[in-house]
This record gives sequence, structure tokens and C-alpha cells, in this order.
Amino acid sequence: MSEFVKREERVVRSTKPHANLLNGVIILALLMFFPYFSFAENLVFVVIDGARYTETLGDPTRQYIPEMGTIADHGAYLDAFYNDNYTFTSRAIPALWCGSWTDVTDTTVQSVNTQYANDPTIFEYYRKQTGAPADSCVYVLKYISSLWLPSYHPEYGPDYWPMIHSEGSSDTDVLNETFAIMQENHPQLLWVYLADVDHYGHLGVWENYVGAISRADSLVGALWEAIQADPIYRDNTTMVVTNDHGRHTDYFSGHGCGCDGCRHIMYLVAGPRVNEGFVSDTEYVLPDAMVTAASVLGIETEYSTGSAVTELFRVTGINESAVNLLQTDFTLHPNYPNPFNPATTIHFSIASSGVIDLSVYDIAGRRVLTVLNQWCEAGDHRLIFNGSDLPSGVYLCQLRMEGVSRTTRMLLLK
Ligand SMILES: [Zn+2]
Ligand SMILES: [Zn+2]
Repeated sequence: MSEFVKREERVVRSTKPHANLLNGVIILALLMFFPYFSFAENLVFVVIDGARYTETLGDPTRQYIPEMGTIADHGAYLDAFYNDNYTFTSRAIPALWCGSWTDVTDTTVQSVNTQYANDPTIFEYYRKQTGAPADSCVYVLKYISSLWLPSYHPEYGPDYWPMIHSEGSSDTDVLNETFAIMQENHPQLLWVYLADVDHYGHLGVWENYVGAISRADSLVGALWEAIQADPIYRDNTTMVVTNDHGRHTDYFSGHGCGCDGCRHIMYLVAGPRVNEGFVSDTEYVLPDAMVTAASVLGIETEYSTGSAVTELFRVTGINESAVNLLQTDFTLHPNYPNPFNPATTIHFSIASSGVIDLSVYDIAGRRVLTVLNQWCEAGDHRLIFNGSDLPSGVYLCQLRMEGVSRTTRMLLLK
């Protein structure tokens, strides 16, 4: 029987020194955000602007989306997901962020006219409720001079905005930036906006429009592969792929009305909690996508109007309570103290006995130490992690059991 029985404590010492030292400025910045936050699930949310359902999952041949078709076979999707209001980007994107058909307000930033959302966004809810720093909440898109902005809501606002990463000019550029950000920061909430399909749709050449869909499809395939290849993301990351609006049923170069082509869009989800291969014909509408995303992250969205899509996920009552979601099988509690120097207690609880893999990674996803890899009895377990041989910095503690994992962030501050 395991020596790690209930409530036993043991010192685990890392013997592998690590090269990268974080400088003091970064550490001070992290400290400000870092009382005790613990991560459960990661969410990668991809928006393909202006792809019509009939060229994506609504096409039974899936000729333009072979990768997403395969992901759908192992994931789940909605067959009746609709933009139920404004079928154009400047209103539908804020609605996806806010989980409501928020009003927007005109503003000027550095002499460029733009708009901000009046309701709080998922980024703001997430950062306020988790205490996560901006680099754990990243919005990636191509370079745009007049970015739409999250809210200035008095209870949320700029203190809780995401890190906005706006660089490059094509969907391929955006994905390359996304990969670099994933490797560097492992954000828990990653929002990726792909603009090319709408752009080529407006230009009116069919081959270029469906070509852009195929390119977005292969990028989404590569993104899902990268998630599976990353030890921090694998097993605890949900990916959503959706659109803001479609295109006219009878003329693909435009959109903006209430026709079925403009309204009917894709909603695809993949991840460890998803009902494999499930296709729902229940009708959902655009604000529901954000509320579902928030459920995956375990956060509340008090000003949203949408409701969570539940049937695509194996966990029932996904919107009921973050606590239910977190404690379904096992819980990795926040380590204490945090920040720590040089030792901290790792505490986890498992509802049933089983094989546990508990490992510590650096922020780049390199495994620093395997703390435990063995059978453990049901109950509470506490271990002391000693980082005296490690440099200061953020470390990720990941507990994996039966293909599901939980991750917490630990800050070693010397
Ligand atoms: Zn457009
Ligand atoms: Zn239309």
C-alpha cells in the first residue's frame, strides 16, 4: 500500500536546478495579483468571423473543414446555433464577449474612433473573480488600429481587461502568435479571433472565401494538436470554435440581415468533459456561448443574459456552481503558503482511490519534478514541496487522475 496514505506529510525536494530566473520586477508585478489563486480548467475560444454554417459543420461532406470535422467526431456540436440579433461583427463580437447583446459606446483612443462594450466581458469576470494576472487572459487577433474594447463598467473595467495581443495581418500570423503565447505564458483563458474568412467573403470570389475557411480549419486543427502536445493544457483544456455571424443565404459576399444564412452559425466544442460525438439539435443563441465558456472556467457572469449549453458536456449542472464542477472527482487545493520560500504544502483530495500523477512544471511547461506517480487512497493528502534548488518564479503544480487534471500556480519567491 502507498506510503502516501491519508494526511501523511512528506518532504519532496527538487534536485534539478533551472536556468531561467525571473527578474524582480516581474515578481513584484505578480505578487500584486497573487494571493491564492488556483486554476481548474483552461479555455481556448476561437472565433472564425463570417463563416456560414453551410460551408462548415452544416455541410455533410465537410469538404472545407476536414480538421474541424474530425474534432467534431471526438467532440460535440450544436446543429441549431444562431446569431439572434445583429448579424455583423461590430455588435456580434461584443455579444460573444459579454454573453448579452450589450450596447456599445463610441469612443476615441489615440485619435482613432472605436467602441467599447457597456456590459462586462468574460475577461473582466474571469480576472476579477480569480485574481489572475492579465497574461493569464489573452485576446489574440491580427493588427487592428481601431480595436473594440472591453467595458468601463464601474465594477469591472480596465483593471480587469485581458492582455490584448494584436499583431500580424493574416489568420496564419495570428495562430503563430497564439502558439508563442501558449508556450510562454500558458494563459488559462485564451481568446483567438480569425478575421480572414469574412474579409475574403466580402471580396466576392467563392474560391477565396472557401479557401480561407480551409485555412482556418487547418489552423484550428494545428491548435488542437498543440493543446494535446502540451503537458499543461492536455487533459484540462476545453476548446470552443464558433462564429459571430454567417453570410446571406443567396449571396455569400454580404451579411447583416435576418436570413438563415446570416443567422445560422457553428458551435463546436472539444475537451475532456465533452460528450464525445454528441450533436444537439436544441436551439441556442449567440450570448449562450460566453455563458457556457464561463461555466467551464467556473466563473459567474452576473450581467449576461445567455444560458449555458449543458448537454454537450458530461458534467451535468455545469452552470449551477463552480464548486460542483471543481469537486466532481478530485480537488487540488491552492498550495500554502503562496508565494513560498523555499517550501510549500500541496494539498489534494480525491473522492476515490486511484493512480495519481502529481508533477511540477515551470511556466514554459517543462517538467521540473514528478512529485508522485502511484496509487493513492481516497481522502486528503498533503505533501511539502521544497523548491530550495529552484530559481524564483511561477511553477505549475498539476494533479492528473484518470485522464483528467487540475493545475494550480505556485510562486517561489526567494
Ligand atoms: Zn463582414
Ligand atoms: Zn442575410
